[in-house]
Amino acid sequence: MELRDLPSVDELARGVDDPLAVDAARTVLARAREEIRAGAEPGDLAARLHAELVALRAPSLRRVLNATGVLVHTNLGRAPLAEEAIAQVVDAARGYSNLELDLSSGTRGSRQDHAASLLRRLTGAEAALVVNNNAGAMLLALAALAEGREVVVSRGELIEIGDGFRIPDVLARSGARLVEVGTTNRTRAADYERAIGPDTALLLRVHQSNFRVVGFTEQPRVEELAATATRHGLPLLDDLGSGALVELPGEPLVRESPADLVCFSGDKLLGGPQAGIVVGRADLVDRLRRHPLQRALRVDKLSLAALEGTLRLYLDAPERIPVLRMLRQEAGVLRARAERLAAACGGTVEETVGRVGGGALPLAELPSFACALEESLAAPLRDGDPPVLGIVRDGKLLLDCLALADDEIDDVAHSVAACR
Ligand SMILES: *Cc1c(COP(=O)(O)O)cnc(C)c1O
Repeated sequence: MELRDLPSVDELARGVDDPLAVDAARTVLARAREEIRAGAEPGDLAARLHAELVALRAPSLRRVLNATGVLVHTNLGRAPLAEEAIAQVVDAARGYSNLELDLSSGTRGSRQDHAASLLRRLTGAEAALVVNNNAGAMLLALAALAEGREVVVSRGELIEIGDGFRIPDVLARSGARLVEVGTTNRTRAADYERAIGPDTALLLRVHQSNFRVVGFTEQPRVEELAATATRHGLPLLDDLGSGALVELPGEPLVRESPADLVCFSGDKLLGGPQAGIVVGRADLVDRLRRHPLQRALRVDKLSLAALEGTLRLYLDAPERIPVLRMLRQEAGVLRARAERLAAACGGTVEETVGRVGGGALPLAELPSFACALEESLAAPLRDGDPPVLGIVRDGKLLLDCLALADDEIDDVAHSVAACR
């Protein structure tokens, strides 16, 4: 086919009873022109128009199967929700809710009341506040407690959290001035002490969650920083990144932080929705709550429903939270899952090392098993229905079973069969 053989947009769209037909025909013809110029055959244009119209109506944000071996994968939406949390979201989404209404008095309530008592119980803190995400929580805390004043933080903790976003750049927008102390690999409590002056409003500690400086390193213990802060009558803010509400090897427990305020994400190892959670001293939390930025950073009702549903599981059934369950899988279970997948797809079983991801436990190695297939399947599987995301390594495609549920194995096998 040559360029002059192509129909016009109107000719291609004629007879197709669809309000999007003209737009879709334009897209299909633009692509066909490029292909002809590149020496390729564009094929059946009517069929491609139909496919384009189907694609235009398909949801863009949809479920994918995570065979990457990374549990809290930021690009794949971090934590999957527990069934109980999903049920609470559906219930809150379908109708109206008591989001900001006190049902006992019939007067105005606060959206913050729904998760606060659970958070207090689970962390032992005096007060709690939930905002859009943890970066927002830090921004709000610095704006409310240190605007126009100084925040002392270790150079070794001013990290980039992915996609080019750097914590210091976000924090600078709060209007607080960051005073960096120590060096990349070594900072001592005395460094903070020396930097404290009349303009200091806050000491900040950022948990080194998505990286580790190894070798010749030193960071003060958070207890030492808390003591330094107390001596100077200053609050200490502890950004735990992920944080843990139950014992997880290597991850600090929120409940054990000696800081005046602690902030952490809802969708990392907590296993809930995107959210930024701040717990700590009631007078400080109250200053955050009354700051104008709180209104701009507030959490929406669906996230709040998911968070409450997740937090309630921590009271008596944390094993029902998918991230926690996947973190504790036995090697035998993972091997059996990989064997079942390999049998269904004609692959081989390989031992792998999974990761927590999402900026938590960067050095933790989670022993896992994968089904190895030919590398050429990687691209078509990504484009599959549902899409499957694996890892390409040493000329093979590894489908890691760490973050796949047992009932997803058939879906993966189905997608593989459709690609062959
Ligand atoms: C992930 C992370 C953040 C940002 O949290 P979001 O919920 O993604 O905004 C901030 N600080 C640390 C240490 C983190 O690991």
